[in-house]
Order: sequence, then C-alpha cells, then structure tokens
Amino acid sequence: MESRAVALPALSLREIQRPGYGVATFYTRTVNALANPLDWIDAQLPAMREFLVRLADQNSGSFNVAGVNAVGRDMADRFASLGATTEFIDLAPFASTGDDGLLHARPVGRAVRLRKRPEAPLRVFLCGHLDTVYPADSAFQSVISPADDVLRGPGVADLKGGLLAMWAALAALEQSPHRDRIGWEVLLNPDEEIGSASSAALLAEAAARHHLGLVYEPALPDGHLVGARKGSGNFDVVVHGRAAHAGRDFAAGRNALAACARLVDGVNALNGQREGVTINPGYLHGGGALNIVPDLAVFKFNVRATGPDDGCWLHEQLDLLLTRANAVDGISVELRGGFTRPAKPFDERNRRLAALIGDCGRTLGLSLEFKPTGGCCDGNNLHAAGLPNIDNLGVVGGDIHSEREWMRVSSLTERAKLSALLLLRLASGELAWS
Ligand SMILES: [Zn+2]
Repeated sequence: MESRAVALPALSLREIQRPGYGVATFYTRTVNALANPLDWIDAQLPAMREFLVRLADQNSGSFNVAGVNAVGRDMADRFASLGATTEFIDLAPFASTGDDGLLHARPVGRAVRLRKRPEAPLRVFLCGHLDTVYPADSAFQSVISPADDVLRGPGVADLKGGLLAMWAALAALEQSPHRDRIGWEVLLNPDEEIGSASSAALLAEAAARHHLGLVYEPALPDGHLVGARKGSGNFDVVVHGRAAHAGRDFAAGRNALAACARLVDGVNALNGQREGVTINPGYLHGGGALNIVPDLAVFKFNVRATGPDDGCWLHEQLDLLLTRANAVDGISVELRGGFTRPAKPFDERNRRLAALIGDCGRTLGLSLEFKPTGGCCDGNNLHAAGLPNIDNLGVVGGDIHSEREWMRVSSLTERAKLSALLLLRLASGELAWS
C-alpha cells in the first residue's frame, strides 16, 4: 500500500549539479519529490491566480462565441504539457423562442475535449464550463481584489477557478509513478449556463465510458459540497390571438396578452401544490402599440423538481391549463421545452464517492459536509446518464450569477489538492473504486 506523500523540498538545479551529487542520489530524491505532488500544487498558487484573472477578464457569456472560444484555447494551451489528445468540437446551435414566437438558432462556442489513457483500468471524467452568465455587453467585465485572498469578477468562481483546480489536480496525477492506472477525459463545454443542450450528447457519451465523474462547479460559500440537486426544466409558452383596431373593431380582436396573463397566473398558482416543486415565471413579452389588440405573447418559466414523478405531475397540470386556454375562441397556445436536467438524488454510489472525497478532505484539514441544493448543473446530466459524480469540486466562492461574484484565492490550491489527493490515492490503490 502506498504511504502518504512525504514532504520534501524540490531539488534546485544547483543542488543537482553540486560536485559529488551522485546519479543514484539524484534519482532517489527526484522520485521522492515527485511522490509529493501536493507540494507542487501549493507552489502553483501565484501562477494560478494570475491565469484566473486573465481568464475572467476575458468575457465568455454563453452567446459570446469568440470569447468562449478564447477561454477554450487558453485552457487547451494550459493542458498541453500533460500530453492529452486535444479536440475542439463544433456543436449544434442553441434553439430558443424569440419575441416573435418563432424558434431561433443561436450559435455557441466549441467544446474542448482532452483524453489521456482511455484504456486505463479506472477511467475518470472531469468537466467544467467555459461560459458565464455575463453577456458581452454586461457591466461586469473585469476582476478586482477587494481584500486579501479574495477576487471579485465575472466567472471567478463559476467556473473559471474550477478549471484551474481541475488542471492542477491532473498535473499532480501526471507526476505520480502510478498514473498509468488512471485514464482521464476532460470536457470543457461552452453552454452550461444555458442548460447544456448543445453539449448534452457529449456529456452522455462520456458518462458511458467512465467510472466516476468530477465536476468543477464552485463549492458552497462556506466551503461545503453538494449532495442532492433538484432537477430543472425550462418551458416556453407562445400565445396567439387575433389583432384588431382597439377603437374601430375591438370586438373582432382576441387579446393574446390577456390570455397569456391568465396562463402566467395559473402556472404561478402551481407553487405550493406539490412538495419539492417550484415554478418561476421568468420572462414575459407581448403587445406593442396601445391601439392594437395584441395577437402574440411569449411567456417562459423554469421549474425545479425533486422526485421522479414530479415531471408527470407538472405535465398533467400544464395540460389542464393549456386546454382551458385553447378553449377560448380565437386563442391558440403552443408549449415548448421540458426537463433538461433530471433531479440528482444523493444515492448510494454518490455517497460512496462523497465518502472518499470527505476522507481526502480530512487529510487536508477540511471537514466537508454534503448538502442538498435547488441548483442544478452538468452533474445532473451525468447522473441521469448513469455516472456517479460529485459536482462542485471547484473553488470556494459565492454570489454567483450576480455582479458581486467572488472567490477565495487560496481555495485554488486547496481544492486542487482535494481532487489530486483523490486521484493519487485511487492511482496508488490506497483508495478503491469498483
Ligand atoms: Zn457553473
């Protein structure tokens, strides 16, 4: 059994070149130094911080294709020294309902996929997203350091800090004499913040060829990790009516806006009717000139759900509401969308993986709890595709999806070491995953 890593100072070149410093001594000390890649991670902190500032200063809102691709190229360059095969993969565009009620395709950036030792006995899948929620014209564009050990900026926690923690953990694994026991694949996807529809197939494929998954969403602000996640669905409702002059021909009009308002109210009233299900009407568009009876309205909502039957329940409720709306003369309603991310329960396999990570955390002086959250991420997709995974192994931060987003700088190496220790112990056989 492999013993714990031994702390040894790295050898300087001068030390190696010292007269009388034999080849055998050099070999032994080099191997010992490599046996402690966690120290190597600690030494990377200043460079990781600098690189994170550069990544976050580059806007990569989900629809800023050039920006997302620039972050992808920067990360691929950073991974280059690890000797993985690298692919840049074009994805299908993102389809969304426009204010005109029609489906529009919007291009997304390329995914980056890196693979190393795909035939190894234990295969680990790691992923993180390149995009952020801040569009190219957002006011929140650059990183500042408001306090020691804190960076505030777009994507510093969600998820660019996590990309660096992932890189450092894999770089540490590649220093291990046991690295050949682990094969790894990294997917950096460009569309997580808009639901990963374009990269969903890549996630599902990867889930099928790996044994466990590590996802680099940010840790909770108190440093803890996530156990169960709710599922999520996005729905678009397009209401068609009939336009007419508001003065001369009001009776001939069929007001799509009024019909849509009744639907918004009906959907919102589903809140509180089923344990664990919440529905958030989040977008409404309709009408224009006040002397025209509006013939079109668009309404979008998000649903969070916990149980496997929640989706059926919701669809039944929506059917009732739509049937009632469609029964009104001159009104027709279309519903698009569905559940994109099923709920991720903290099941037995995820608990086992959490226990291994918790154990590594204790070695590093971290006491990690696994808490449920209503948020969801690619960990949900991987779970649905059968891959056990822990999905917020990224940096510690908070106020994500707001202009106050922050991260704790020292968590770059703290969380990199957490993942690295897991990988090193799995590689050495000190921990087992079957
Ligand atoms: Zn994220």
